[in-house]
Amino acid sequence: MRAAHTLARKGRMAAMARGSSGDGTGDEGGSGPCAAARPTATRAVDYAVRATAADGGILALAASSARLCEEARRRHDAWPTAAAALGRVLTGAALLALPLKDGGSVTLRVRGDGPLGGVLATAEASGAVRGYPVHPHVDLPVRADGKLDVGGAVGRFGLLTLTRDLGLRQPYSGSAPLVSGEIADDLTHYLARSEQVPSLVALGVLVGTGGRVRAAGGLVVQILPGASDDTAAEIENNVARMGAVSRCIAAGASPEDLVCEALGRFGPRFLQRSELRFHCPCGRRRTRAALAALPRQELRAMREEDGGAELVCHFCGRRYRFAADELAALEGREQREEHPDVGRSAGAGAAY
Ligand SMILES: [Zn+2]
Repeated sequence: MRAAHTLARKGRMAAMARGSSGDGTGDEGGSGPCAAARPTATRAVDYAVRATAADGGILALAASSARLCEEARRRHDAWPTAAAALGRVLTGAALLALPLKDGGSVTLRVRGDGPLGGVLATAEASGAVRGYPVHPHVDLPVRADGKLDVGGAVGRFGLLTLTRDLGLRQPYSGSAPLVSGEIADDLTHYLARSEQVPSLVALGVLVGTGGRVRAAGGLVVQILPGASDDTAAEIENNVARMGAVSRCIAAGASPEDLVCEALGRFGPRFLQRSELRFHCPCGRRRTRAALAALPRQELRAMREEDGGAELVCHFCGRRYRFAADELAALEGREQREEHPDVGRSAGAGAAY
């Protein structure tokens, strides 16, 4: 349990902050104090659940996300500390997208002053999640408590930005300064400060030997207006007893188990179960549109100097090659709106 486990109160608002304490370094998880754990096989699919309790006064979201996080790690060749940070951001975005209606999405961007350079993830209400770290080759020395140093990789100073696209004309976007770079703390702070919702957020990624993601998951509990401060304190105690969420999952706990354990005597009513998967909607047609948005002189330079172009999708790492004659055809077309997802692989910077 990290020392950052705090309870801040402001008037009637209680902000529960729990560190994303679930990262390991390759040690076997499952022997911790997680009462929710049951020894079961690795889950065949990642999924998230949504539940309410206390007559709608409590909202709980939980996910297991190891496959999704491992797929992202593999695609970006993320080293352990970067993989843990990426997995936390992917899982956090997936959880916050869960209550949205079809067509909605959440984009979570964490940008600190650490060597990671930032992490961005987009999650659709459908359960499709994608994301990337700016610098995936980051692996810092393990902290004294044996955890991966995600806060060190992200950086202490920076900004968390959350954008909810509800399919309306204008997406809603807000941001808050980072408090630790550990992602869960930062998200808790954001939700309390920018959205005035006291929340408990726990995110964890267990990276095993060989750098692969062994377990990952998360939990968000929100206390809606009208609930007593005692309710918040009781749930916080429940979660503290569970230990690191990734170790609970490694030991066999399901998302439903996490919710039941966190809510304790506030028996949850499960409303939704959605599968999660890594999925990027990029494609050749979309990438060609991005290319068409480049200045004509740049297209000409690529054609004449490089004999073609290769573009790489930041979100999934997929590469798209365009021959010189395709570039020539694009040069003659009308300029299109700039496409932010895709950069030129040769010398292209990150998307932000
Ligand atoms: Zn892609």
